[in-house]
Amino acid sequence: MAIARRKFDAVIVGAGGAGMRAALQLSTAGLKVAVLSKVFPTRSHTVAAQGGIAAALGNVTEDNWHWHMYDTVKGSDYLGDQDAIEFMCRQASEVVYELEHYGMPFDRLENGKIYQRPFGGQSQNFGGAQATRSCAAADRTGHAMLHTLYQRNVQANTQFFVEWMALDLIRDQEGDVCGVTALDIETGEVMVLQARATLFATGGGARIFSASTNAFINTGDGLAMSARAGIPLEDMEFWQFHPTGVYGVGVLISEAVRGEGGYLLNKDGERFMERYAPHAKDLASRDVVSRALTTEIKEGRGCGRDADHLLLKLDHLGEDVIKTRLPGIREISMKFAHADPIHEPIPVVPTAHYMMGGIPTNFHGQVVAPYKTGPEEVVPGFYAVGECACVSVHGGNRLGTNSLLDILVFGRAAGNQIIEDLKKNQHHKHLPPDASDQALARLDRLNNQKDGENVAQVGDLLRKTMHTYCGVFRFSDMLREGVTRIGEVAERAKHIEIRDKSRVFNTARVEALELENLVEVAIATMISAEARTESRGAHARDDFPVRDDDKWLKHTLYFREGRRLDYKPVRLKPLTVESFTPQARTY
Ligand SMILES: Cc1cc2nc3c(=O)[nH]c(=O)nc-3n(C[C@H](O)[C@H](O)[C@H](O)COP(=O)(O)OP(=O)(O)OC[C@H]3O[C@@H](n4cnc5c(N)ncnc54)[C@H](O)[C@@H]3O)c2cc1C
Repeated sequence: MAIARRKFDAVIVGAGGAGMRAALQLSTAGLKVAVLSKVFPTRSHTVAAQGGIAAALGNVTEDNWHWHMYDTVKGSDYLGDQDAIEFMCRQASEVVYELEHYGMPFDRLENGKIYQRPFGGQSQNFGGAQATRSCAAADRTGHAMLHTLYQRNVQANTQFFVEWMALDLIRDQEGDVCGVTALDIETGEVMVLQARATLFATGGGARIFSASTNAFINTGDGLAMSARAGIPLEDMEFWQFHPTGVYGVGVLISEAVRGEGGYLLNKDGERFMERYAPHAKDLASRDVVSRALTTEIKEGRGCGRDADHLLLKLDHLGEDVIKTRLPGIREISMKFAHADPIHEPIPVVPTAHYMMGGIPTNFHGQVVAPYKTGPEEVVPGFYAVGECACVSVHGGNRLGTNSLLDILVFGRAAGNQIIEDLKKNQHHKHLPPDASDQALARLDRLNNQKDGENVAQVGDLLRKTMHTYCGVFRFSDMLREGVTRIGEVAERAKHIEIRDKSRVFNTARVEALELENLVEVAIATMISAEARTESRGAHARDDFPVRDDDKWLKHTLYFREGRRLDYKPVRLKPLTVESFTPQARTY
């Protein structure tokens, strides 16, 4: 079959905050840029971000980037790379002001400056009093940000391919990346998009778990495409469980609620976080709070008939604060929990939220991986930013509001790096003759499978397996069994069948392709988690409860071929300041 081809200077897969920030940089520089998205750009998951974006503006309490850097290193449980963390925290104020000038409608303080609220893990003076660092537009910060960036891109003539799904990465014989194959979801047409630079900004993959705050489209496609193309995945054992998803539903209740003064209660009406984190209490780091909730439930102090959730109280904040600072939260709570937080608490449980691992990159957004047959280096033509990338600034645990910052800083940095790289590489690489073979073979297999497995059933089993065997607390025997179980799910997923073969929007086809991607992400997670015999950040092993810096101060690399693991050192040396050496982590 003849496949249509189109050529661009740069192809960006993903129209969330990360993809759009990078696209803006490139389009403004006059480059021809295509941005692909499975959904309309402003429906990308960034739109759901509620609480804010971290930057040490110091508008409410004294602050500076160095304190922000310390908090981020500590929050990462010392697994974050300190050069990248310094890079991010130093640029935070600049990218926030830039966004303000693009037209972002931030909330304001009385004196007209950007409104900021406290979030977990934020401190003054290297671990001192609570800092107030998250810049917010009510509890709809991501919504305001994504619309601002979209409008700017339209103005800059970025070309959007809306409802297009990238299928696979194209690499030539050398291993250089020269574009992607993609499916037009509406028509079913497959096309090759050839580019001198290919940037993945495909977002997270927390849909591998059954209770998740993520959108249905967050299926880790970028990671799976990279893995199939021989790129390893970094630190996949580290997934953040947010302490406050709405019980039974998974929709997120932002940490901003606790930032504004809300707190958690168990069935005895006890403010239990005082026991787990005497100093920071409800604003301890997310991994700490999620473990506390899980422990309360396990020890019988959960609420409700099944004693399986906790309560988030905020009525004491008063109607005014709730209506002006947390209007979206109130709406979510009334709609999904049938509780108006002005009068009653919200039932919550820890819920899968954020992927700290991803495609390995440096802080210029360049993908770094073993190249040709040699050691790891920059893979020519390939870049990744946002939640799908592992820079690594979040290490073992991300601090709240550091992700919206990450996508702006590294979106812009990758844009700048691509502009420089394209000045040197004026010509397109030759497409390999088999450029679209892999993607077409996958589609063929799906189209021709008869009497196969049901996508929804296998997907359900995958999510349940991950939740049961690789949740908030992890155990040796469970992980070992989890590896076997997830292998079985992968086998079944090889035989999935598209029941609804009508071409109406190809929904069933897309779901089947997404399931294949979820399988890749789930296997990488389970195998990486089983191997790491320590507790660090969000990876909590019951049988190895302490952090082991002698053995495990290193990043995991998972290779799809042979399901093999390798490791690489953490970059402890920052760019200009002194390194923060690993300490016991208490809040
Ligand atoms: C409910 C919720 C609230 C949050 N609140 C905050 C907060 O207050 N502060 C904070 O810092 N962080 C927050 N986070 C985290 C943060 O929002 C995300 O990590 C961040 O927005 C991810 O941005 P992104 O651009 O990397 O990806 P996304 O915004 O998820 O965008 C991914 C894009 O990739 C596209 N895509 C994916 N696969 C394909 C494919 N195969 N082909 C074509 N396109 C594809 C999608 O269509 C989409 O356009 C929150 C997350 C959630 C889920």
